[in-house]
Amino acid sequence: MRVIRKITELRAFVQAQKASGCSIGLVPTMGYLHEGHLALARKAREDNETVIMTIFVNPLQFGPAEDFDSYPRDLARDRLQAEAAGVDLLFAPEVEEMYPKQPAAALKVLARTNCLCGKKRPGHFDGVATVLTKLFHLMQPDRAYFGMKDAQQAAVIEGMVESLNFPLEVVTVETVREADGLAKSSRNVHLTPEEREAAPQIYQALLKGQRMIEQGERHPAPIIQEIASHLQKYSRAAIDYVELLSYPELEPVKTIQGKIILAAAVKYSAARLIDNIVMNCE
Ligand code: AMP
Repeated sequence: MRVIRKITELRAFVQAQKASGCSIGLVPTMGYLHEGHLALARKAREDNETVIMTIFVNPLQFGPAEDFDSYPRDLARDRLQAEAAGVDLLFAPEVEEMYPKQPAAALKVLARTNCLCGKKRPGHFDGVATVLTKLFHLMQPDRAYFGMKDAQQAAVIEGMVESLNFPLEVVTVETVREADGLAKSSRNVHLTPEEREAAPQIYQALLKGQRMIEQGERHPAPIIQEIASHLQKYSRAAIDYVELLSYPELEPVKTIQGKIILAAAVKYSAARLIDNIVMNCE
């Protein structure tokens, strides 16, 4: 596996792959890899001749009061894990390499962002869309891989790729969880032991909502209420949001029907965690 930190070297690598007719799968990440990231890498390995993973904690997608500085980083460990998952090239640029000067243009996302994390983190998805546009131009991937753990991100990127005719396929991968149900996240290392013990309740709360739908409930309000009250009782966290929306449009629904997302975000002392369930309803 090669590790590249400079755009000029990356361009040469990509050109060589293209010249030899290799399909490219791209796995964008912020690093501090775990099984969730590696599931994306393995899927990319299955589907493509060349797999590029990026590790870049993108300042554009963090708000001023968010955790850009404390976001966990460990490139030495990430290298070993990425290599074991079959990655061919790890692109890990410094911030100055990606943003050497004040940018003259950026992406603005126009849909699917006035809810969930888009509402709570103003500008977040514009930052995600901007960095992905740069990565898509640099890597020219045939396929790009995203986790359903960040379901709103997947919906936003699918919308962006379609609206702007990026010549690539967006591939989504199911959320990978710890044995106790907690969605794997780089931010889980910031939980205290007590918080870590309570955090699986986020998924338990969402499962409760899912069961209510399976049992015939078709009104969002009692489901949201039940999820919120479970989180309040058991998660030891402050609720940031609980929402039930259509998926991938992310619009409010009066009556539950078709594909929907149940999503929650909570705040622990040093980590904000998100989780969701996307399901099809009769
Ligand atoms: P991040 O490093 O948090 O930006 O995540 C990079 C990619 O990995 C995104 O597409 C995430 O949705 C995906 N990802 C993160 N956690 C998980 C997980 N537990 N299961 C599946 N995919 C994940």
